Amino acid sequence: MEQLAEGIARSRVPSVTLPPYAATECYWVGSPSEVILVDAGDGSEAGVQQLEDDWETLGSPAVRAVFATHHHGDHTGGGAWAHRRWGCPLYLAEADIARLGARTRTDAPWQPFAMDSVTIGGIRVDLVAAPGHTPGQCNFWIPSVRGLLAGDNVLGNTTVVIVPPDGHLGEYMETLIRLKRLGAEWIGPGHGDVVQNPDQYLGEYLAHRHERSRQILDLLHGEAMTPRTIAEVLYRDKLPLEQMAVGEWMVRGHLEWFQAQGWVQEERGRYRITADGRHAMWKGRDDLK
Ligand SMILES: [Zn+2]
Repeated sequence: MEQLAEGIARSRVPSVTLPPYAATECYWVGSPSEVILVDAGDGSEAGVQQLEDDWETLGSPAVRAVFATHHHGDHTGGGAWAHRRWGCPLYLAEADIARLGARTRTDAPWQPFAMDSVTIGGIRVDLVAAPGHTPGQCNFWIPSVRGLLAGDNVLGNTTVVIVPPDGHLGEYMETLIRLKRLGAEWIGPGHGDVVQNPDQYLGEYLAHRHERSRQILDLLHGEAMTPRTIAEVLYRDKLPLEQMAVGEWMVRGHLEWFQAQGWVQEERGRYRITADGRHAMWKGRDDLK
């Protein structure tokens, strides 16, 4: 377990998740007598054992609630166990409850939350709607220590995969801008190392997306292309062929967003840039958000 600030610790919970990660970071917030847990890992035996061990290390505080940042199984899978173990309510944003897998839904009573903030062990935690990676992604802002628990909107060592229909790139970029404005001093991501330079890190995330957008529009400037062909050009040296499907999904995320802006048109699986798309391209990357 890693202590991040007074009253805030995190457990690296072994979970099946996207490489290169092999664990979900779960956060305890509160005091030695009461805590909330943010995310619960995938519910595997090794995962729940880690939660149990770390909870004992914390002094076996009363667990008042488990919040999940989003519905993906590597964050909600441990909910059923946590509910049985501690009898606590399980909270997840309404938009994401609808997307829970059938098994997770029957195994664990996830419920929507109506609160904007919780105070636990004297620490106030603000709940921040942060859609993009999923429609109901919720992040947790702890003003007293200027810390942000960002779920899968931020990963410690890589960028984030935004895959439609769950993910929405336009919403994600807007969320990143809002999160950046919080002025966090550190970010606890859903996977990977703690981010110690949030302003710069989020700036790089945004720049990376702008650059990808520009590259894709650039390619379409020449000819109509399928998402697969675009992915093969963009990720030729970055992804092994067997992971090209992931690249293709990331490209689809961009294309769906471009389409909503009227920047591209689809015809029999191929995408073509429109006059508006050309205009957006020439206006420069700062307007490509
Ligand atoms: Zn995750």
